[in-house]
Amino acid sequence: MSFAGKVVIVTGASSGIGAAAALVFAREGANVVIVGRNENRLSNIAERCTQNGGTTLLVKADMTNDDDVKRIVDETINRFGKIDVLINNAGLSVSGSISNGDILKSYDGTLAVNLRAVVHLTAVAAPHLVKTKGNIVNISSIAGKMSTTALALPYSISKAGLDHFTRGAALELASSGVRVNSVSPGPVRTDFFDNAGTAISWDILGSRLPLQRCSEPEEIGEIILYLASEKAKGITGSDFVCDNGGLLRVS
Ligand code: NDP
Repeated sequence: MSFAGKVVIVTGASSGIGAAAALVFAREGANVVIVGRNENRLSNIAERCTQNGGTTLLVKADMTNDDDVKRIVDETINRFGKIDVLINNAGLSVSGSISNGDILKSYDGTLAVNLRAVVHLTAVAAPHLVKTKGNIVNISSIAGKMSTTALALPYSISKAGLDHFTRGAALELASSGVRVNSVSPGPVRTDFFDNAGTAISWDILGSRLPLQRCSEPEEIGEIILYLASEKAKGITGSDFVCDNGGLLRVS
């Protein structure tokens, strides 16, 4: 599954699933554009990507800043001249609920990164993806397909919206030869809960799933790689669930 010569943008590449995806694409020889806010972490991933055989461009950007989002594409084109793959992975959950009176803060903070920034970056990158007949992989979640805890309602809304955006973008861009798909993980052992300020144990979460385990970020990275590859040339508008059977309990 060689990506030699391909240019792949990964947002939220400083940790977790995005970092794993960047490393997998680097292993396949890609030029990987790693995007995030935490420069130290990005530098560390860039070094590991280089060890894996890839070339990297580090772009420090806040996905909630429109100028930063445009700059991701500008810097990529300046350095590599094209975009083959866009991985919309950066995401977070700002907790809040109707009962606590802070749902709007949670909604705005979560949707800004998980949905608005994805729509924006997709729109800015699309003309370049049309030129290469490239593709997009959005990182959604099973949380968009079920009701989750009260404090994560805006997170679920953001991922449900992202699923619909994936299908709509796939339909719109298909005639230009651009594929758009998503991956919906269940629990994956990352810094996600630490960053959300939620004390949840991955081991306890995993023990409740039918396969009695959490996924590791690398598993999701391999699915992203497959969807972005030529092997998936007939797949567009699809959502690949990887949740250790979690959704079986609610379907
Ligand atoms: P992490 O918290 O480990 O990583 C989140 C990444 O998003 C970081 O690299 C962070 O970079 C980046 N990010 C967050 N906010 C911004 C912002 N404003 N601007 C730029 N980058 C930002 O979590 P995961 O790896 O778990 O999450 C990755 C994706 O996977 C998310 O979309 C999440 O919703 C999804 N997901 C995760 C699951 C899990 O169980 N872990 C399950 C289902 C889906 P930095 O801090 O450098 O800005």
